[in-house]
Amino acid sequence: VYMDQMGRRVRDRLVMEHQLRDALQSESFRLHYQPIVEMQTGEIVAVEALVRWQMADGKLRMPGEFIHVAEDSAMIIPLGEWVLRTACLQQKKWLAAGLDLGMAVNLSTRQFLDPHLMDKVMNIVRETGVEASRLKLEVTESAAMHNPEESVEILCALTENGVKIAIDDFGTGYSSLSYLRRIPADTIKIDRMFVEGLGDQLQDETIVRTVIALANALGKVTVAEGIETREQYAAIRAMGCNYAQGYLISMPLSAEDLSKLLDRGTKLI
Ligand code: C2E
Ligand code: MG
Ligand code: MG
Repeated sequence: VYMDQMGRRVRDRLVMEHQLRDALQSESFRLHYQPIVEMQTGEIVAVEALVRWQMADGKLRMPGEFIHVAEDSAMIIPLGEWVLRTACLQQKKWLAAGLDLGMAVNLSTRQFLDPHLMDKVMNIVRETGVEASRLKLEVTESAAMHNPEESVEILCALTENGVKIAIDDFGTGYSSLSYLRRIPADTIKIDRMFVEGLGDQLQDETIVRTVIALANALGKVTVAEGIETREQYAAIRAMGCNYAQGYLISMPLSAEDLSKLLDRGTKLI
C-alpha cells in the first residue's frame, strides 16, 4: 500500500510538471493584483501581483496548489520571469492611464539560486521601461536565509540598481536578526497569522507591536497582511503600521476588475 501511494504521488507530480510546462506555453497563467493602502489616508499606493493558473473549464487554481511543484521542478524560473514581465507591463499600462502604483512581485527560493537572477530582473526592467524604484521584490525570510551569503549579495546588487526589497511573511520563517540587519529591505510585511490573533491573543498583539517598533528602529516601513476586519485595521493603524493589505480592502483582482474599482476612486477604505 505504501509503495502504491508513493508511486501515485510521484506520478501526480510528474503529471503536474508536464501540465505546468504546457500552461506556460499556452499562456494559461493569470495575474491578480491585490491593493496595498496607506493606512493614514486609505489611498491605494501599490499592488501585489499574485499568480493564478486558469484551467480549461475557466476555474482558477491558486498558487498554494502548484507553486511548490513549479519550485521543485525549476519551472518557477520561466514562470517567475513571466510573472515579473507581466506585472511590469501592467504597471506601465496603469501609469499611462494616470495611475502611479508601486508593483510588488514575489520571488521564490529557487529564483535565488539562479545565477542570472539579477540580469533577468534588470533586463525586464529595461525592456518594459518600468522605473526600478516602483518595483518591489518580496522575499520570504526562509527563501533569503536558505543561502544567506549569496542572497544578501544578490539583494544588495538589485537595490544598488534601484529595485526595492520587502521581507514577506515576516515572523514565520526561521529568522535571524543579524540577517534582518544585513538584508537591504526597506519593507517588512507582517504575516497574516499575527493579524488574525489580534483581539484575543495578547501575545500576537505584543508581537505585532514589537515588529513595528523593530522595523521603525531599523528605518523600515511595515505592511500588515491579511486584514479582514475594521477592528484589525483600527488596531494595527493605532500601533503605527504604515500600509495594509487584505480582504477588508479588496480581494486580489484581475487588472480589468481592479481598474474598474479604481475608476470609482483610489481611496479604498
Ligand atoms: P503571499 O505573498 O504572502 O501573498 C498573500 C496571500 O494572502 C495571497 O494568497 C492573498 O490572496 C492572501 N490574502 C490576502 N489578503 C487576505 C486576507 O485578508 N485573508 C486571507 N485569508 N488571505 C489573504 P495567494 O494568492 O493564494 O498566494 C499564496 C502565496 O503564494 C503567496 O503568499 C506567495 O508566497 C505565493 N505566490 C503567489 N504568487 C506568486 C508568484 O508569482 N511567484 C511566487 N514565487 N510565489 C507566489
Ligand atoms: Mg507576497
Ligand atoms: Mg505574505
